[in-house]
Amino acid sequence: MTRTLARWALRAKRLLHTRDGELTRELARTDGGFGLGQVPTRLQPDATTTMVCGFCSTGCGLDVHLKNAEAVNLTPSKNYPVNLGMACPKGWEALTPLRAPDRATTPLLRNARGELTMVDWPRALETFTSRFKAIQAKYGPESVAFLGTGQIPTEELALLGALAKFGMGMVHGDGNTRQCMATAVVAYKEAFGFDAPPYTYQDFELSDVLVFVGANPCIAHPIMWERVCKNRNKPEIIVLDPRGTETAMAATLHVPLRPKSDLVLLYGVAHLLLRYGLVDRAFIEAHTHGFTEFSAHVTKFTPERVCEAAGIKAEVLERLVRSIGEGKRVSFWWTMGVNQSHEGVRVAQAIIDLALLTGNIGRPGTGANSITGQCNAMGSRLFSNTTNLLGGRDFKNPDHRAHVASVLGMDVARIPDKGSLAYDQIIEGILAGKIKGLWIVATNTAHSWINQADLRDTLKRLDFLVVQDMYTTTETVDFAHLLLPAAGWGEKDGTFINSERRIGLIKKVVRAPGQALADFYVFKAVAEAWGCADLFARWSSPEAVFEIMKELSRGQPCDFSGIEGYAQLDALAGVQWPLPAGQSVGRAEERRLFSDGRFFHSDGRARFVFAEPTPLPEATSARFPLLLLTGRGSSAQWHTQTRTGKSAVLRKLHPSMPYVEVSPVDAKALGIGPTDWVQVRSARGVAEAKAFITHVVQPGQVFMPMHHATTNQLTFAAFDPHSRQPAYKACAVRLERLERGVPGTAS
Ligand code: SF4
Repeated sequence: MTRTLARWALRAKRLLHTRDGELTRELARTDGGFGLGQVPTRLQPDATTTMVCGFCSTGCGLDVHLKNAEAVNLTPSKNYPVNLGMACPKGWEALTPLRAPDRATTPLLRNARGELTMVDWPRALETFTSRFKAIQAKYGPESVAFLGTGQIPTEELALLGALAKFGMGMVHGDGNTRQCMATAVVAYKEAFGFDAPPYTYQDFELSDVLVFVGANPCIAHPIMWERVCKNRNKPEIIVLDPRGTETAMAATLHVPLRPKSDLVLLYGVAHLLLRYGLVDRAFIEAHTHGFTEFSAHVTKFTPERVCEAAGIKAEVLERLVRSIGEGKRVSFWWTMGVNQSHEGVRVAQAIIDLALLTGNIGRPGTGANSITGQCNAMGSRLFSNTTNLLGGRDFKNPDHRAHVASVLGMDVARIPDKGSLAYDQIIEGILAGKIKGLWIVATNTAHSWINQADLRDTLKRLDFLVVQDMYTTTETVDFAHLLLPAAGWGEKDGTFINSERRIGLIKKVVRAPGQALADFYVFKAVAEAWGCADLFARWSSPEAVFEIMKELSRGQPCDFSGIEGYAQLDALAGVQWPLPAGQSVGRAEERRLFSDGRFFHSDGRARFVFAEPTPLPEATSARFPLLLLTGRGSSAQWHTQTRTGKSAVLRKLHPSMPYVEVSPVDAKALGIGPTDWVQVRSARGVAEAKAFITHVVQPGQVFMPMHHATTNQLTFAAFDPHSRQPAYKACAVRLERLERGVPGTAS
């Protein structure tokens, strides 16, 4: 054991054997401490404090009420500019998952009999370090990779990315944001010159036409939908979705297009806008590039072709075009129905093209607006050091590497000169025997990744898998050699960046159980055990890292060097980037990008980007005649349900069993009754589910929520070629009624 490791072990042991009161003093003496049994340090014992919710990207403010320095309950914050006193069921129940009985409270190491057994932190860190170092020594530094998340604070993401790549010598690391937002990132970068969602939530209230493409905010972003409901303009609300979702039912116009005909339809809309002269030529001339080529491209997308491909009536197309072309303030919103597609980047860019074509950007109530998924997807996009170098920079650019090295006071040689493999390529790397060690942080890969059966086989091939998580019972922990117990939202400090670019605070309001540590202090401990802690001496606390991130953002489109610190974020109810040094902003102020018509490309112009539509990667066939759509089931469920599944209240708000929506036409043809169980079978696997016969889905299509682990045993592993985002939304399946109508009885 090295001297550094011995020092670490001594310190950890001392902390482990210290009572809470003494621990607080001990933490104050150390460089921020390791968060063991941490108590709220900056809060009054019986105060109410506002912090950002830890589920979705809406970023609602929650007032957490403390008694004796512990959170006892919470209410939605009335003074937070995001949610204005509202919260969805998940927000109301945000504290419940922290008290779950399956919390990881000590490190667990798999023994020779294959059982996870308790070990102390020094042993866990010694194993972590020796196993990963041995793999790197044998197979090279690139043989160990990490998979992160959009669920932990930006400060932790930055430390993980910097530690892994600059300290531990890894080159490859990605995050679960690849599964939700990679498409929007690439679309914005190519069109605007930077990953920059331009809007503010006020735009929901100011539009006179809102166009939702592949988005179901009633369920997925309920507070954003509440903002739509506050719109006093009697807006036209248009939903482009194959399914009659809750949002489609509330819309003024539902366009029930065929799955993945969106690109053809959007080009057809552009075609008619040009034909009718409903475009903003002055804006196009002054602020864009590529209009002539785009105009030529869309001439092929005639109304006849479009209506045939999308399966919609000519009058529906006509109303869609007139609404967009004649609206004064038109906003376009998209989310996973677009992003999780085999050609999602081009679809997202077709939406941006329509906003540019009609000059609907940079003004109140307008914009080409990607709604993010996870609470800190935007933080991950800018600071996880995976696809982008810290601060939205480029690993391949020597000037960017030199700048980051100088801000961090590190040797530039520590910064890789190439980007990371994407998530799917890391998985491929495991299959190819090139990646032998993997560190998964705060994500449930064995449930959420596409075509899960193959993924699970792949995880078994790893020489060493470390999972860092709040819980011992996730599907991914089943494959872990080592589990590191993590504190969750509410048990640590940091910042999230929401969908409208608002940087908001999260705070320690609850003690983490047992020896669980804030991820920040796990990373600090790993740095010490690895022998590279000196590189991160300045990274002493989340707030210290926030100061470093401010420096890293300086001069970038996301520049927030003008934010004074956590206290100011608290006082202002979060701040949207950008806020360069020298600029100020008022409390709860809302700001949008591009009001001056200048985009982030060097010539200041936005780009029209387009391509030929491509066929579905897996079409239906005689053997698999139905198209499976997937998505969120209810506003009470979050992704793989590792947290929302812990709440008895939330569990009551959705069906407990897996279910599949089937149209009455298909149910009748297949002899499926309303209470029947069925097998849903694809070329990859089979899932059993209860049939829910409903007009919400069209004949030829079925729908399953993504929250049940079996859904991803069916999905087909196709990816957008530009963003490498998985195409979860469409694959071919068939249904078979179970013989006696109960699960597990099919022959
Ligand atoms: Fe939390 Fe999102 Fe619900 Fe708001 S809408 S309370 S951020 S889960």
